[in-house]
Amino acid sequence: MDTKSFKRSLQQSDNYHRKGFGHEAEVMETLESEYQSDLIQEIRNNNYILKKGRITIYLAQAFGFCWGVERAVAMAYETRQHFPGERIWITNEIIHNPSVNQRLKEMQVGFIAMKGNEKDFSVVQSGDVVILPAFGASVTEMELLDNKGCQIVDTTCPWVSKVWNSVEKHKKRDYTSIIHGKYNHEETIATSSFAGIYLIVLNMSQAQYVADYILNGGDREEFLAKFKNAHSQGFDPDKDLTYIGIANQTTMLKSETEAIGKLFEHTMLRKYGPLQLNQHFMSFNTICDATQERQDAMFELVEEELSLMVVIGGFNSSNTTHLQEIAINRRIPSYHIDSAARILPGNRIEHKPLDRDLTVAENWFPEGVVKVGITSGASTPDKVVEEVIEKIFLFLD
Ligand code: SF4
Repeated sequence: MDTKSFKRSLQQSDNYHRKGFGHEAEVMETLESEYQSDLIQEIRNNNYILKKGRITIYLAQAFGFCWGVERAVAMAYETRQHFPGERIWITNEIIHNPSVNQRLKEMQVGFIAMKGNEKDFSVVQSGDVVILPAFGASVTEMELLDNKGCQIVDTTCPWVSKVWNSVEKHKKRDYTSIIHGKYNHEETIATSSFAGIYLIVLNMSQAQYVADYILNGGDREEFLAKFKNAHSQGFDPDKDLTYIGIANQTTMLKSETEAIGKLFEHTMLRKYGPLQLNQHFMSFNTICDATQERQDAMFELVEEELSLMVVIGGFNSSNTTHLQEIAINRRIPSYHIDSAARILPGNRIEHKPLDRDLTVAENWFPEGVVKVGITSGASTPDKVVEEVIEKIFLFLD
């Protein structure tokens, strides 16, 4: 499919909306009362520190809702106001935050359920309103909804669209897009749907494997098995790694995305020499500012002598997981939770260790003087952070 012209024609359709509906002021008021927090504002004004008795809270200097998420949530609220009587669906969680998604359910916004490995769009009828989330939707989904005659409200973050433009450019010049991301993350699924030939690498070790293959060749079958589900149909590592462009899931660890970009640049430089490099390698800066700011703030925060870290965000939120990684690399005991309800009575906490299932830790909160670092992912409202801090202060009693 010519994804570029499909998107262009979709954007011209009367059934497609990617700006608000003019209810911003009312919606902002509601959002403020539901998601903002006076306590968090007070901590911000106090240089991001709050001390009570033996406990000091250190908040990261950038955390929580990014503008892309705020915009998507506001558009979803506006959509409800603008279409009071219509059935409204959302193709996926609007953002990875349980409380926000719960609130949308209460507003009668339905989530498209999964049937096996596929989303079940059979519930969606002509005239229904369908919201595409902040991390976008695949071109196949957009086409399906357009064909059904739905009103499409597209809240895709402009930073994500920027990555889509990059892979379109790769495609135009027959370059393979090497996407740093998780092949089953919605954003990467959407991005790869706009790419021509693509390969998704999860981390530096996978990137290194690909770079070695480019320079020295290798076992083709092993390559394809290793990247099963993570490449375009018919991808051939012996042919499709001659011209490459780099793209990324916007919420990956910035330093890793940069290092992977550099690795491939050096690899193509070694293989083709400086004069030919630009004919074989393309890269655009598509790391989202918000992700970058949150990660930088986290690097600053872990410089404090923290007793422990609490990282708040949805368990399937990629940017939250990366914040957690930074704490772990610094060997700071770190607890990833998605709400204050995970802090249980009897000094227990239900949390998600990196790459492992939820578990309950006993006696997680130490005696004596405690310095608690707190941050939250781009999909977490301040209210949730406030609730966590209030619960932590219960240890003062
Ligand atoms: S984290 Fe960045 S790319 Fe993702 S929604 Fe927020 S601003 Fe957009």
